[in-house]
Amino acid sequence: MLGRKHQDNEEWPLYGYAPGGYMNECITCEGAFVGDKRAQNCPLCALQAQRRAFDDLRTAAVNLRSAQQAYLADRGNETLGAAVGAAAAKLDEALE
Ligand SMILES: [Zn+2]
Repeated sequence: MLGRKHQDNEEWPLYGYAPGGYMNECITCEGAFVGDKRAQNCPLCALQAQRRAFDDLRTAAVNLRSAQQAYLADRGNETLGAAVGAAAAKLDEALE
């Protein structure tokens, strides 16, 4: 049973949603959905929450890169600038 396997998977819950067979009411949109009995968000609201979190990460990566450039321009500390740049690159990579 694939559904059961997924339900037991550590991936769940995802932003308040987990698969299951219970009728629930979403705490975000108040719509009815079928999921785990402890699920709080419907799949759509969970997906939207995930997208917001992803957008926040992307913004953080852009801000980090800007901070790196500003620091290099003002202070010229290439060692620190390179370390911040490497961190920003890893964040960018994770977001791709
Ligand atoms: Zn919802």
